[in-house]
Amino acid sequence: MPCAICGDTGWKTIEIDGVSRVTRCECWQRAAVDRFAREAEIPPRHEACDLDTFHDYNDSLSKAVGRARRFVREFPAVDRGLLFLGRPGLGKTHLAIACLKLAAHAKGMRGVFHDTRQLLRRIRQTYDPVTRRTETERDVVNAVIGTDLLVLDDVGAERATEWVEEMLHLIVNTRYNERRPTIFTTNYPVEAPPDAKHAETLLERVGFRMYSRLQEMCDFVELEGVDYRELGPNPTIEALSRLTKRGSQTHRALPGPTAKAQLKARFKSAEPAPDLKWPGGKAGS
Ligand SMILES: [Zn+2]
Repeated sequence: MPCAICGDTGWKTIEIDGVSRVTRCECWQRAAVDRFAREAEIPPRHEACDLDTFHDYNDSLSKAVGRARRFVREFPAVDRGLLFLGRPGLGKTHLAIACLKLAAHAKGMRGVFHDTRQLLRRIRQTYDPVTRRTETERDVVNAVIGTDLLVLDDVGAERATEWVEEMLHLIVNTRYNERRPTIFTTNYPVEAPPDAKHAETLLERVGFRMYSRLQEMCDFVELEGVDYRELGPNPTIEALSRLTKRGSQTHRALPGPTAKAQLKARFKSAEPAPDLKWPGGKAGS
């Protein structure tokens, strides 16, 4: 049955201060929300991520959420994507998903979320004749390249082998050339912190070609603060500011470069390698 308001055109006329304007009908909005829920592959634990629920308890976080708001407002007329950088547990993935969701809901655009390592694994699986899924490499890659807004979470988590570099370059470069923006997150810093002489940087993790492409196509947005996951779900602003004063346990407990090198040496023969969190950590910020 066609929409009683718009007759399925997706547009309706409203009056503001006696002036008639054309706007999107609610049926169009609902369809955009439904399609996004089906297609975007948001991990269930991040489904509720929104810019309004983001805790910006310091300047760097307020700036980051402000930049995210501007991106969503201007999308799809944006020249550059975003790269959220910072330690785990600051809300980088939260911001990226909130942008994706808002852009898709409000503008009716297509969007998809991928953890970078999982995406690469999925592409590799298409080469394996035994575990091969029903999809081909081309199916996966074309879907990622063709979506209006892509989130690539935790870039640099997988060390850049030749194949990884080629694959990421193909995806990112094609999107760039076709003027489709991408939002990235990474746990790796632009510069190694002064107290960690051997900490790896984003450049070291992704390789020179990818790094310079990121600089061309993205605004780098750095987040600083404490690991909110220490406070459990839905921390209050007060709890966050107490934690800020006290310092984040997980950030403090992260092994320094020397400890990391020792751990590596100690676990050399034992597989799998230990999860060292920052600065070689897992996804999930
Ligand atoms: Zn309608």
